[in-house]
Amino acid sequence: MVFTLPFIAIFIGFFGARFFTTNDKRLMYLLSFSGAFLLSVTLLEMLPEVYTESRSDYGIWIMGGILLQIILDFFSKGAEHGHVHLPENLIKFPWLLFLSLSVHSLLEGFPIVDNHDVLWGVVIHKIPIAIILTLFFKRSGIQNTITWVFLLLFALMTPLGSLIANYGALDHGLLMKINALAIGVFLHVSTTILFESSKDHRFNLTKLLTIFAGVLLAYFL
Ligand SMILES: [Zn+2]
Ligand SMILES: [Zn+2]
Repeated sequence: MVFTLPFIAIFIGFFGARFFTTNDKRLMYLLSFSGAFLLSVTLLEMLPEVYTESRSDYGIWIMGGILLQIILDFFSKGAEHGHVHLPENLIKFPWLLFLSLSVHSLLEGFPIVDNHDVLWGVVIHKIPIAIILTLFFKRSGIQNTITWVFLLLFALMTPLGSLIANYGALDHGLLMKINALAIGVFLHVSTTILFESSKDHRFNLTKLLTIFAGVLLAYFL
């Protein structure tokens, strides 16, 4: 499950993309829901786990994760939280986008190996991201093979992270530091989704309800 679900999520997004358009309201709701759910899982499950460790110097690693994600955003232009701003008429393989998404996804593979709630948080977060990437690729007129290679490699990154976490024989302290780094990444990505989804500050009941649903689901899971 840990190895297959995050992989499958990318292809659910790829095939699900045909039901959405770029400025689809439903896509925004899906994104808000996934952001709220990921934020809640991070606060309810991951933070306590890291902070009950005897050595509690993990704050700096969480901060490091936030900074890392800010740097990755420079290269991905925000693709990790559902923004793609690359030149249209893309012909070459978008390396910077790919590398930043890969670092991000590799990290996501670590905390999901021993926590199923976090696993679901990551899976649900990946689906709208994959839909948005697919829609972008379709619009940019990039070759189908490039789209496929991109998504396939991208989908393999999280399982690769889980593989390293499981069989890499890393010591417990290092694994907890990587988890703390992932907490920072999740905090940045999920709060950005929530902030950007209310950019115009217009009251939207459906969006508010999807956010509450995300929080409640994470709480009762
Ligand atoms: Zn953005
Ligand atoms: Zn992610």
